[in-house]
Amino acid sequence: MTIQIEAIKAFSDNYIWAVHDGRHCVIVDPGESSGTLAFLDRHQLRLAGLLLTHHHHDHVGGVDEIRALHPAPAWGPDDPRMPRSLRLVGEGDSVAIDELDLAFSVLETPGHTTSHIAFHGHGLLFCGDTLFSAGCGRLFEGTPAQMQDSIDKFAALPDSTRVYCAHEYTESNCSFARKVEPENPALAERCEQVAELRKHDRVTLPSTIGAEKSFNPFMRTRDRAVISAAQRREPGRADSPSAVFGVIRRWKDAG
Ligand SMILES: [Zn+2]
Repeated sequence: MTIQIEAIKAFSDNYIWAVHDGRHCVIVDPGESSGTLAFLDRHQLRLAGLLLTHHHHDHVGGVDEIRALHPAPAWGPDDPRMPRSLRLVGEGDSVAIDELDLAFSVLETPGHTTSHIAFHGHGLLFCGDTLFSAGCGRLFEGTPAQMQDSIDKFAALPDSTRVYCAHEYTESNCSFARKVEPENPALAERCEQVAELRKHDRVTLPSTIGAEKSFNPFMRTRDRAVISAAQRREPGRADSPSAVFGVIRRWKDAG
């Protein structure tokens, strides 16, 4: 059986990603345990590991309960706010999951939190709360320049990379992105597709890096239309990609 990736829904809009081959499974960011435990049971899967992107409760809240029943390694960033007994990883480290013949490289992506990381490999990106489709995570702890650098790391990945974000925020992100770029045809098309998917309560992910570059304002801070929109919003402030990023992020936060 080839690798499958399924979304386990949690809370109101989180996705816990399950990567499995019908026998073994890796779980990304289990914010709660019940959905994951039911998923492992239903599919009779052995847990091969947990990948954790950052310390927020809605990403790690289920870790201890899951590991109590399914002992398995967990990889995550070096941060005292993370669950205990992790294999600590940082930029450039590799996470090998032999049971599934998978290896992911770690990208440090500060911005949403200071110690946020992402996992990349096999054409897949698990980016936690750094990037969302048509949007990005809030800057709870980092600066616009840090988040711009983090998103630039994603932009350097192949366009075909499939992006597994941790929340279903795409529809509201699309509404905001249209304020920034009302004339972007790729964005209009994505918004239409997302509205249709959400009407039927379907998952709008994964996206791809190539697609996000065409309509996500936070990946387009060097694009003329996005720069102009930022300059109109905060005249005199949008003089670099990270400054454009900051303006667009403040605009989004203002609602
Ligand atoms: Zn978060």
